[in-house]
Amino acid sequence: MIRAYKFLMRPTVGQAQALSEMLRDHCSLYNGALQERRDAYRHVSRTSIKYGMQSAQLKEIRAFDPERQGRWSFSSQQATLRRLDKAFAAFFRRVKSGETPGYPRFRGVNWFDTVEFPKDGDGCRWDSTPHDPVTRVRFQGVGHVKVHRHRAVVGKVRTVSVKREGRQWFVVLTAEQEQPEPLPATGSVVGIDLGTANFLADSNGGFVPNPRHGRSNADRLEAAQQALAKFPRVRCDQRTANHRRAVAKVAKLHGRVRRQRLDHAHKTALALVREHDFIAHENLTIRNMVRTARPRPDPDEPGAFLPNGAAAKTGLNRSISDAGWGVFLTILHAKAESAGRVVIAVDPRNTSRRCPQCGHTSADNRTTQAKFHCVACGHTAHADTVGATNVLRAGLVRRDANPA
Ligand SMILES: [Zn+2]
Repeated sequence: MIRAYKFLMRPTVGQAQALSEMLRDHCSLYNGALQERRDAYRHVSRTSIKYGMQSAQLKEIRAFDPERQGRWSFSSQQATLRRLDKAFAAFFRRVKSGETPGYPRFRGVNWFDTVEFPKDGDGCRWDSTPHDPVTRVRFQGVGHVKVHRHRAVVGKVRTVSVKREGRQWFVVLTAEQEQPEPLPATGSVVGIDLGTANFLADSNGGFVPNPRHGRSNADRLEAAQQALAKFPRVRCDQRTANHRRAVAKVAKLHGRVRRQRLDHAHKTALALVREHDFIAHENLTIRNMVRTARPRPDPDEPGAFLPNGAAAKTGLNRSISDAGWGVFLTILHAKAESAGRVVIAVDPRNTSRRCPQCGHTSADNRTTQAKFHCVACGHTAHADTVGATNVLRAGLVRRDANPA
């Protein structure tokens, strides 16, 4: 299975200049090769020039023009010639089938926006600085360009392309992934409730604790950030060795926290997908809207709001958890899709207040953060288990309303 990824690149001014020149030179190579085919075709001999002949000239072209054509990857230039070849193949195919297609056209430099590298490692290198938390891609003649890698690349990278869109630069990858086998049906369904005390509670009464290593790393990260803050704000190349070490330490700890969170999310999602055919979870967007809409009154002074650090801390913790949940749900959806499982997001309103036994819905049912006690029928359970049960119920209702 081939999967494509597209990431925004953040080139330096010099790199952006080099990327523009790379496009310009590939464009002139394309147009030059097109001119050659045109001239040969118009000649009385009606010679048709093939890709192989043009590719064989590349070495000479590069040697003749080291400042421009000689600067770029041989393989990317071959890829450009192959693109022209494809355009001609399509042209002749349509001529043969009786159509009147337009002859392949010259491209203006603004209409030529892509350079392809057919193989990772040949003229380009994806993730060229693997030891650094910042992802980079290296191109021959350009250097290591920073990439905003907003999601993980799964599988082995095959091809790499540079694409210009307006003023922005993108890198497009294709990666080969193993074809996932749909898992056999288990007949089991589950609802999950994402929380802060536990990472999640499921409707069967199970709990997945938060990653244990989180706290110690958070403390170390805080210490490292405080140490870094003591250095003056100066440009990279003016930093002392100690300053650079402090920067590297913060980056390293950030990377570790991120990787551990990812690892935990992967393991949790995999366990759920293996065990259940159907998984319902709360819609986090709705949940956050509902939560932020609620004011935070001061319990000791009616009409006042809590301005203290405790509220800010709760907010911070929540935003950290939110990030973790978002990552987890993305992974869960991806794993479920490749395993042939169904995942549904449901409206979380009232899921923590409704009694799973009798259906009585009231805020009074939830006596503390952890305890659920129905005021109508006396049913008691862990509040998060109740939440997960209600999420499952809502999910099943939605599934049965729109059967696939
Ligand atoms: Zn009840």
